[in-house]
Amino acid sequence: MSDDRTSALTSSAYQQALEVIASVEPRIADATRQELTDQRGSLKLIASENYASPAVLLTMGTWLSDKYAEGTVGHRFYAGCQNVDTVEALAAEHARELFGAPYAYAQPHSGIDANLVAFWSILAHRVETPALAKLGAKNVNELTEEDWERLRHELGNQRLLGMSLDAGGHLTHGFRPNISGKMFHQQQYGTDPETGLLDYDAVAAKAREFKPLVLVAGYSAYPRRVNFAKMREIADEVGATLMVDMAHFAGLVAGKVFTGDEDPVPHAHITTTTTHKSLRGPRGGMVLAQEEYAADVDRGCPMVLGGPLSHVMAAKAVALAEARQPSFRTYAQQVADNAKSLAEGFLTRDATLVTGGTDNHIVLLDVSSFGLTGRQAESALLDAGVVTNRNSVPQDPNGAWYTSGIRLGTPALTTRGFGHDEFDAVADLIVQVLQNTEPGTTKDGKRSKASYALGDGVADKVKGAAADLLDKHPLYPGLNLA
Ligand code: PLP
Repeated sequence: MSDDRTSALTSSAYQQALEVIASVEPRIADATRQELTDQRGSLKLIASENYASPAVLLTMGTWLSDKYAEGTVGHRFYAGCQNVDTVEALAAEHARELFGAPYAYAQPHSGIDANLVAFWSILAHRVETPALAKLGAKNVNELTEEDWERLRHELGNQRLLGMSLDAGGHLTHGFRPNISGKMFHQQQYGTDPETGLLDYDAVAAKAREFKPLVLVAGYSAYPRRVNFAKMREIADEVGATLMVDMAHFAGLVAGKVFTGDEDPVPHAHITTTTTHKSLRGPRGGMVLAQEEYAADVDRGCPMVLGGPLSHVMAAKAVALAEARQPSFRTYAQQVADNAKSLAEGFLTRDATLVTGGTDNHIVLLDVSSFGLTGRQAESALLDAGVVTNRNSVPQDPNGAWYTSGIRLGTPALTTRGFGHDEFDAVADLIVQVLQNTEPGTTKDGKRSKASYALGDGVADKVKGAAADLLDKHPLYPGLNLA
């Protein structure tokens, strides 16, 4: 369909939808309109966000939402699931084809849910199934109370090794306040203190000593590629299951920017992902697995999940179909190229980057050289219409709340059509804001980690320059809500 026709139909669909919504709760219609205005008018650099296509967004707003479908394709605990079966089977088929995965599970509602399904699939496969076989039982309901207590103790005493939060890992990778850090005995690996890079020998040494059942690879804020073949070697040496969480970089895997040793899918026993970040789909999660783990992942419901979000699985199928188009490869390559342009833009302006650069979609700017905390930098940038999020840097002296870093990502603005020159200009605008921001003081005269003062006129100047860039690359061009 031509872009003009898509825009005309989308405009009409949303105009009418918002009118219907406003007739019930106008404040929701207003907030929805305002969100579009805000997203159109700001530089979105949050590395985990993107702009899904109108087709993906429209797919979520239907009556598929109303259908309960606990179970799996063709094996549901509810009647009348034939259309949900079609939807789920298509989402899984597109995922298998796109990622070259033997098995795909499209039900998880989010990335955290996908990781929970993966953890419990690994526990089921590695701990529960052998224990049941030894006891001659088919499932846990057949165990005596005494046997169940023993198995429960065993399930609750397994070990997980994942990347630490301040090195760029995610809180589901064994962070103590998260359930993953509570249900497993956990240890974390970091990055080299000098270079900020993953040190595979150090990971291997830790794995040999700790002997985890699960080795987790993947990240939320590490600006470099990972060699998953090496991670698999480490897992194999210590008898661990390799689980890769590719939530952040799934789009770069789908778009064949990460291939060979950098493609997690052939190397990991289980790969989890979100569908809404660089993959540019609806908010949701997915699990890919080798055949060996397929039957265990398939029990995501009732193991961890209830009814799947059928409307979101439909949108996942649409987004995955989009990601199978050749244009998605061009997009994914541009995401990585743009991150390099952004990093170079900072380096030529003497800013400090964790690891000295990037080779994925993330740039991690250390704002301590501007005399600021991440929180001050994030707030000052927001005042100037630049949307980022603060993030810890390795061994961060300001902890996970105030932080010393700003995490930036290129997936969203690349969707709008930004290229090298625009990202160089974005680096310039960010440096202008940070150079003109002064940390505030606390009531007792100490240097504040939160308050700040942005120089007169800076916000307006940067907003004006950003508006010029954004106007050249409109979001949802042709979508008119008037
Ligand atoms: N895994 C990683 C690596 C992430 O970065 C995130 C989200 O930021 C998640 C999992 C969780 O995803 P969700 O917010 O969909 O639960």
